[in-house]
Order: sequence, then structure tokens, then C-alpha cells
Amino acid sequence: MSKNYDIAIIGGGNAGLSLAKSLAQSDIARKIILIEPIPAIAKQANWCSWHDDESLKKNSNSIKGVWDTWNIIDQDNVIEHRSHNYKYACIDAAKYLGELENCIIDQNVEVLRENTQSISIKNNKKVIICESRTIIATHVYDSRPPEIKENSLKQHFYGIEIELKPGVKNHETVTLMDFRVDQKSGLHFIYALPFDESRIFVESTVISENLNQKSWYKGMILKWLENQNLTCKTIISEESGVISQALQDNHHTGIHQIGSNGGATRLSSGYAFHNISKQIKLLSENIKANNYNVPDVMSNYLINMDLIFNRVLINNPSLSVDLFIKMAKSLSGEQFSEFMLNKANFNIWCKVIMRMPKTPFLKESIKIFLD
Ligand SMILES: Cc1cc2nc3c(=O)[nH]c(=O)nc-3n(C[C@H](O)[C@H](O)[C@H](O)COP(=O)(O)OP(=O)(O)OC[C@H]3O[C@@H](n4cnc5c(N)ncnc54)[C@H](O)[C@@H]3O)c2cc1C
Repeated sequence: MSKNYDIAIIGGGNAGLSLAKSLAQSDIARKIILIEPIPAIAKQANWCSWHDDESLKKNSNSIKGVWDTWNIIDQDNVIEHRSHNYKYACIDAAKYLGELENCIIDQNVEVLRENTQSISIKNNKKVIICESRTIIATHVYDSRPPEIKENSLKQHFYGIEIELKPGVKNHETVTLMDFRVDQKSGLHFIYALPFDESRIFVESTVISENLNQKSWYKGMILKWLENQNLTCKTIISEESGVISQALQDNHHTGIHQIGSNGGATRLSSGYAFHNISKQIKLLSENIKANNYNVPDVMSNYLINMDLIFNRVLINNPSLSVDLFIKMAKSLSGEQFSEFMLNKANFNIWCKVIMRMPKTPFLKESIKIFLD
């Protein structure tokens, strides 16, 4: 059995559900279907980023923690940042997606709880084969996670949310990157979100080409906790992921790509939340004006700078911790958050570039230019 739709959205993560909600609430009636096998409630994750007051208010129902300060640490430095305009906040992904899901169900968007198996194009229509049904659609937005290529740079991580025995002394500050850990299998840091005196989320993150066993990250987390004189009482939940830091292929098949699959992940940091919001807002405006193309959310300049940064990281492992420390030292908290939110102005870029080692950056820039 097949059925016709104006728009089919594949994948109901942040990008897919946000697009479905935006279209369902717009005044143009369109027949929309969202294809997603897993309900929002099963998608437990901590999504963090810098938020201004407006964004904190908008996301208040799903915010799990908000912090004024964050730090970046290595053997010789503790760099503490604080921003007046932006706070670091953690969004409970399952709650956030659950709200979007309830909203689209209320607006009568059809949700198909199945895996998409294949997509093809016949007579200008897109044919989506799912497990039990075939969907025919005029426009398709595909948000399935992008392919993680074998020998490419990736950010891979495993984290646990735990209840502690003695308690966290300072729960006002997020540990954004603590590099005082094993650096043998790539650039490695511990990331810690102290929700209160007795509850903390700790993640071991590595930027490298090869993944590690789960037990490796867990061992690193337990060792870090021990070094902080913290003892785990209970593991409340765990999360893991792999984010590609390589440039995504544009498929050029007439199937639109959105979200991380549509290039919304910042290549040097793995942050995607605000880029996805921006992409979906602009795309919805386009669709209302009968333009179905996905707008770019990052400039070519930013993409190229991130690619150069990543190449320097991968080809100069002995410099990598120092690159992050130098970058953090060169900026105030305000400027650092703007840099992470892709809002860096000329002055901020100059400050960062001036602190970077010139030879490896020049070498990688020339290589990218020649590629
Ligand atoms: C564990 C984790 C933590 C992250 N933390 C942060 C963070 O703190 N801050 C930040 O900015 N970014 C973070 N990211 C990066 C990014 O924000 C998220 O990956 C974000 O969810 C991307 O949204 P998306 O809609 O593009 O893709 P996804 O959320 O990955 O959605 C894709 C959807 O496609 C569905 N799907 C897969 N295969 C099929 C199929 N065959 N048919 C139909 N549907 C399918 C999946 O079930 C999924 O729901 C994190 C990523 C991960 C994995």
C-alpha cells in the first residue's frame, strides 16, 4: 500500500521534529508525514550549549541545569570563564523532543514508527520504502545521522550521570575540558556537569580517528572522580555517541538533508543545537515561500577555519591540548561563548588566530587550498 504526501521527514530527532512542528503550525496546509522508529521518551541525552535569556526562557521546560561559569584545565592552567550575556545550559533531550512530539501529534502530523529502508526518485516523486509501507512524497527532508567514515576525525564519548557519596564542593562551575587525563589515544578530556551537591554528569571525550571500548572511557571517568576525591554511589544513567568532525557529503539526489546530516554540526566542536534551530527556522520560512532548499547555517569561512583547525589537531598531536588552552586564554568568557555560537566578529577571530602556532596552520591552510 502506498500513500501520497507533500512533505516526508525522515528521522524525528531535533531537526526532524522541529521542522514538523514549524510546518504544522504554519498557516499553509500541507500533508506531512514524519518517519521515526523511536519515541522521544527513549532518547535520553544531555544537550548543552550557551544560551541567552530569550533562549533559556524558550527552553525552560526542558532545562536540567544552568551555570554561570565554566573552566578549561590542563597541568599548568585553570582558565575560568564567565559571561553576562550567555549561560551554559543543559537541555534534557527526551523532555525537549517529547514536547515537540506532543505538539505535532496535536497538530495531526502523521507519525510512522518505522525505519526507512530506501529512498528512490520516480517521475519526480520520491519513493520511500519503510518496513510495512511505501510513502510517496513530493519533497523529502532526511535527518538520519550522517555516515561516520572509518578513517575520519571524530568526537567520541561515553558519560555517566551519577549520585555521589561525599558530594561536589563547587557545583556552580562546569568543567568544559579537563585535559589532565591519558592523552595516548587522541586528544582526550573530561567534561563534567555538576547538577547539585550529590549529582554529576561526567563524560570522557576523545577526538581521534579510532573509537575506544566502553570500558576504557568508564575507567578514565572513575580515575578522574578519584583524583577529585569523589566517590560514585549509584550510576543513574549513561550516554554515548560519535560525532563526525569531517565535512558531510552533499548527496545531490533531490533529497534534502537537514540537521547534522545537513551540515549543522560545527566541525571543530561537535556543537549543533543552535545551528539546527537556525537551520529549521530559515528552512520553514523558505518552504512557506515555496522554496524547498535547505539554507546554509555556517559560512564557508567558518567551515574552512574549522577544517584547518581539525587538520592541525590530527597532524600535530603534541600541540593539541595547547591549542585549546591558548584559544581559551586569548578570549574572555563573553568572547568565548560568542565564538562557540558562531557569532565571533573580526576582533575575536584576530585574537584567536594571533595565539595559534603559525607554521602548522599555514601548512594546513595551503594543503586545503590545494585540495
Ligand atoms: C549523545 C549525544 C550528545 C550530544 N550532545 C550535544 C550537546 O551537548 N550539544 C550540542 O550542540 N550537540 C550535541 N550533540 C550533537 C547534536 O546536537 C545532536 O546529535 C542532535 O540531536 C542532532 O539532531 P538531528 O536531528 O540532526 O539528528 P538526530 O537527533 O540524530 O536524529 C536523527 C533521527 O533519525 C532517526 N533514524 C535513524 N535511522 C532511521 C531510519 N532508517 N529511518 C527513520 N529514522 C531513522 C533516529 O532514530 C533519530 O531520531 C550530541 C549528539 C549525541 C549523539
